[in-house]
Amino acid sequence: MRLLAFLMVILAPVLAFPRLGLHEGYTRLVFDLDPTALYQFSQTPDTLTIRFSGVTVAASDTEVSSPQVASYQVVPSAGGATVFVRLRQNVEVKTSLLTDANRRRLVVDVLSLARPGSNPPSAGAPARPLPPKPRTQPKIVVLDAGHGGIDPGAVGFVVEKEVTLDLALRLQQLLQNQGIEVILTRNSDAHLSRDKATDLGMRADMANSKRNLFISIHVNSAPNTAQGIEVYYFGNTIDPSLLAQVIRENGGGELGRRLTREAQSVGERLVSDLIAQSNLKFSRQLAHYVQASMLQATGAVDRGVRQAPFYVIRNARIPAILVEVGFANHPVEGRRLQTDEYRQTLAEALARGILRFLNNGG
Ligand SMILES: [Zn+2]
Repeated sequence: MRLLAFLMVILAPVLAFPRLGLHEGYTRLVFDLDPTALYQFSQTPDTLTIRFSGVTVAASDTEVSSPQVASYQVVPSAGGATVFVRLRQNVEVKTSLLTDANRRRLVVDVLSLARPGSNPPSAGAPARPLPPKPRTQPKIVVLDAGHGGIDPGAVGFVVEKEVTLDLALRLQQLLQNQGIEVILTRNSDAHLSRDKATDLGMRADMANSKRNLFISIHVNSAPNTAQGIEVYYFGNTIDPSLLAQVIRENGGGELGRRLTREAQSVGERLVSDLIAQSNLKFSRQLAHYVQASMLQATGAVDRGVRQAPFYVIRNARIPAILVEVGFANHPVEGRRLQTDEYRQTLAEALARGILRFLNNGG
């Protein structure tokens, strides 16, 4: 009998981790655990993170596409694993641990919150008071208009600091119209500090985990006739032509080189930081949505989605990107950037990319 039980264990199919169940109104994730396994939860508006120790599981990346859960990722580590569950809007997480003789199951239910009007009263029923407003937190987006005040940024047919502020203000309006809360790093022609390292540090600090995403807006320049749009998420690069641009955006000159070295060393440490790696994946997704949306709206040259050690996004714990909307010194693109019409087109495209990301839960 003992042998039979043993055989049944080793012959049992390897159970998925987690097992997934899709139900009306909720998505269920079941984690089968050994008696010694431990776990710990943390949650932001977008992501439920569960850190396990005492489990041995394979890496996976699974699209769920239910009304409650967009996807989940399992990232193994020494002696354990971390699971990132990407949540959609208007959901609530409930967990329970079920234990019987020889197994433990951690059950995570992600439930849709009821919306007003989802249960219309039947005819003839007495009038009922309006259901309470759902306690859903608005999404919070941080917009960083690059440069400002004593720092004009790139200067050509336009001045970078003026374009970035104008785009941020237009984008703020568009996002607020969609019920999204917007935090601006600046709302006037001002620097945050005369010291560029402090200035960039203050902007970067706004990308904290109480917000949903961070977008730093910039205008490019180049010694040649380069043109087009590119979107960056954080990471190291060995491309020397890219480094010149990164140093310029990181404050230029000796300071820019120092801040770039600092950001590069953060990049090296991030390689072994699971949470940062997961967040970078979401940043890359956001970058692709925003880039695709801007290219479609403008027909501009596609300079791609790339990684580079920009100081302002080096420590972000939320999806964070830096967009270069065009070249200030290009004779055609620079002049396009002068017009209200083109700026509005860019702002609307940025908004569409952001909304696609927020609504897909990444
Ligand atoms: Zn810039």
